[in-house]
Amino acid sequence: MQTERTQLALDGGRPIRETLLPYGRQTIEQVDLDAVVRTLQSDWLTTGPEVAGFEADFAQATQAAHAVSYSNGTAALHGIMAALGIGPGDEVVVPAMTFAASSNCAVYQGAVPVFADVEPDTLLLSPNSAERALTPRTKAIVAVDYAGQPCDYEALQALADAHGVTLVADACHSLGASYKGRAAGTLARMSAFSLHPVKPMTTGEGGMVTTDDSALAEKLKRFRSHGITTDLRQREQSGSWFYEMADLGYNYRLTDIQCALGRAQLPRLEAWTARRAAIASQYDVAFAERPYIQPVRTRPDRTHAHHLYVVRLAAGAWREDRKRVFSALRAEGIGVNVHYVPVYWHPFYRERFGYALGLCPEAEAAYESMLSLPIFPRMADADVADVVAALDKVHAAYGR
Ligand SMILES: *Cc1c(COP(=O)(O)O)cnc(C)c1O
Repeated sequence: MQTERTQLALDGGRPIRETLLPYGRQTIEQVDLDAVVRTLQSDWLTTGPEVAGFEADFAQATQAAHAVSYSNGTAALHGIMAALGIGPGDEVVVPAMTFAASSNCAVYQGAVPVFADVEPDTLLLSPNSAERALTPRTKAIVAVDYAGQPCDYEALQALADAHGVTLVADACHSLGASYKGRAAGTLARMSAFSLHPVKPMTTGEGGMVTTDDSALAEKLKRFRSHGITTDLRQREQSGSWFYEMADLGYNYRLTDIQCALGRAQLPRLEAWTARRAAIASQYDVAFAERPYIQPVRTRPDRTHAHHLYVVRLAAGAWREDRKRVFSALRAEGIGVNVHYVPVYWHPFYRERFGYALGLCPEAEAAYESMLSLPIFPRMADADVADVVAALDKVHAAYGR
């Protein structure tokens, strides 16, 4: 007979938690509220001093020469593709294990995304697979710092240099991480960040591109504001109405309200990253003695931003599949998630580009067995213990 403690919530038992523990969550404190209110009461709601101030602070935090804000991380990636002049006839190599925006940015410009596989233990872009994906039409490689761990930038840069293509970073997960002592944001020609609420810090919606190249920084600024060469504040200061639209751009601007929030958040990023690392190591310790859970590995030559804590259900250790385990954990009040469906599985990619299952076997195998466990700075040690207890409970029912 199952007791109330061991019976799964899915089967009518009592859940480990009464309310759902989310997989990620923003941290908003009084300083954030004050900064936003101050900006709302100021003269500039957009294209004002908070934008330039946030960009300067962000560049300093990532040790990049330039930071150019965008309305979201997807727009930032689009800006990168446009700044490189990527267009119809070009190909862009992207890992299969990522959010669709990593490759959609190439499609926006009329280019073809070509998917490469990931390393099975880290789920980071495999340099060997990226090399096999290169053709004479390849213009760029997008390195995705999956879960917050920087890719193998030395190998990827060597590959890019050898073939005359540009290495760019989708660093939407890895703000605060580093590779061989170099900060995320300086590891590729241009790096895109997301400031969505589940990401390392937030502006509500928001994005940023960092680069050391001032010509690219100018192109990125122009692209986010209609392709126009001067902004309103510059025109007011110079007392002139004149402006020129040099290229077709978009309105991808981040507001002063959002930038003020970002400036308020940034000084706490380091402490938040440290708290994420502490939570990750509590999980690591717990799973070291639970062979039915296999965390995605971290390489020793880099630091991790721990945007996600991803595990795989060990082969042979479970009688039920991931779908069932996912549902059981959700019923226990644990907000597990899955990052990601291999991008080319999406109907748009299959129908538009003719991609089929089997293209990237490591990404596909990982997808079938993976779960993202809750991790965010304000998560308590007791919350971590709940997640581990729920995994034990579900494994007692579904494991072998
Ligand atoms: C979040 C994310 C993006 C897009 O960022 P938004 O700010 O949501 O547009 C792009 N790439 C990856 C890997 C992401 O996780």
